[in-house]
Amino acid sequence: MTEQDRPTPVGIDTSKPSIARAYDVVLGGKDNFAIDRAVVGEMLKIVPQLPEVAAYNRQILSRGVRYLVEEAGIRQFMDLGSGLPTRENTHQVAQRSAPEARVVYVDNDPIVLAHGRALLVENENTTVVTADLRDPEAVLANPEVRSFIDFSQPVGVLLVGILHHLHDSEDPQGVAKAYMDAVPSGSHLFMTSFCASFPEAAALEETYLSVLGTGRFRTLDELQGFFGDLEMVEPGLVSLPEWRPETPLGHELTVAERLMAGGIARKR
Ligand code: SAM
Repeated sequence: MTEQDRPTPVGIDTSKPSIARAYDVVLGGKDNFAIDRAVVGEMLKIVPQLPEVAAYNRQILSRGVRYLVEEAGIRQFMDLGSGLPTRENTHQVAQRSAPEARVVYVDNDPIVLAHGRALLVENENTTVVTADLRDPEAVLANPEVRSFIDFSQPVGVLLVGILHHLHDSEDPQGVAKAYMDAVPSGSHLFMTSFCASFPEAAALEETYLSVLGTGRFRTLDELQGFFGDLEMVEPGLVSLPEWRPETPLGHELTVAERLMAGGIARKR
């Protein structure tokens, strides 16, 4: 079936690129349109290693969720800016270790709901909510969120690969804090984001802003600010491959490896 033949899910605008679909292109997925592929083509001109970066982000997502379930004992997750379903999604990683783990995916792109529903038909511990994470009050009051998450028990709050899509004027630090203020002691914040730790960062930020409208490359100090006064889990905020690698890295980090940073922190 060609792209023209394929039915477009209701509410999906294929005349404008979408963050979720552009990310799907970078990950080698099929849930995207010509406009998304054109945008990614522009980005690849500046950083051809973008697919590697996305892979590092997915790999730390798996390692981080496994840590949260197996070592921190977390059994419920809010995955904010969850993206289109792909391989090793949060619920699959979490429920492999703890089948009772509950996961709420939150994304503002309706294509995520369209594809997520199909994936989750038979999984009663997982749901997808269409909402704007920049409005924590509304997300936290959402009846579906409240029916899945017990706010008296520790929660894993995931802001993975998303805060760089918030402009400074949208107060990403305040957004992260609002979610962490709503969850009890023992909850964890898991965050990854673009990092301005390499010379091409400024050019890539310019490209992102011009073709996609968002994409801030922040310094490590700025990213550390997202964790506020939470207690960092070892090894702290680091380049993605440096966070608890399964095998020792044993080499100087490449640009692709330094393009994003991430970490996990615990609420005291
Ligand atoms: N968290 C996944 C990961 O790291 O693999 C997906 C990251 S993807 C780059 C960012 C996702 O955040 C996209 O699916 C996009 O639709 C979603 N997103 C962007 N702005 C959002 C907002 N204001 N509220 C909710 N979701 C948002």
